[in-house]
Amino acid sequence: MPFFPLVGLPHLSAHTLFCIGRNYAEHAKELNNPIPDRPVVFTKPLTTLLADGGTVVLPPVTHDVHHEVELVVAIGVGGKNIPIGSALDHVAGYAIGLDMTARDIQTALKAKSHPWELAKGLDTFAPLGNFVPAASIPDPSALRIELRVNGELRQSGTTADMLNPIPNLIAFLSTHFTLHPGDLIFTGTPAGVAGVTDGDVLEASLEHGLSTLTVGVRRDS
Ligand code: ZN
Repeated sequence: MPFFPLVGLPHLSAHTLFCIGRNYAEHAKELNNPIPDRPVVFTKPLTTLLADGGTVVLPPVTHDVHHEVELVVAIGVGGKNIPIGSALDHVAGYAIGLDMTARDIQTALKAKSHPWELAKGLDTFAPLGNFVPAASIPDPSALRIELRVNGELRQSGTTADMLNPIPNLIAFLSTHFTLHPGDLIFTGTPAGVAGVTDGDVLEASLEHGLSTLTVGVRRDS
């Protein structure tokens, strides 16, 4: 298994990457998707992970890759059937991350009701910033998440607008999967997603710089 240390959480490396789709109403609307009645869940392979300072590679299989800035939750204490009331006790820390998405592939998959992994799981499609220990963020329910592309603000949202708050996501995931230390939850993106292109610089930030992430973009023709 590839080893990807979680910066800021010295005892953890990445395990499973869970992602939540359509967790902000405004984003669901901008893509003409209905508001789901339960969390939309998919996973990304570990080979999607990209460290701060790296380069997102746009592969020849797609011509429309979007940025999705997201709060990322790292699980520190595993469990199964975790109650909502104690879910935050399982969190080791929070980071800013990007759920890069091949929108053209995803649109084709959605039309056939197929899973999204081919659109979401490409190499380098999960850039991840430094983690802030959970002890420093007692309440993650009102954190600002932002993304700038080439210096211009493209996405700005607050975790207060999540349809399924973090404790509910942890509880829900753990009714289906045993959570493990190092599991990461990409918690969905607010509105403002758009395409990226060769040479772009993406700068993401959590709560005005608590966690930051800067990556380049390169097309691999
Ligand atoms: Zn996403």
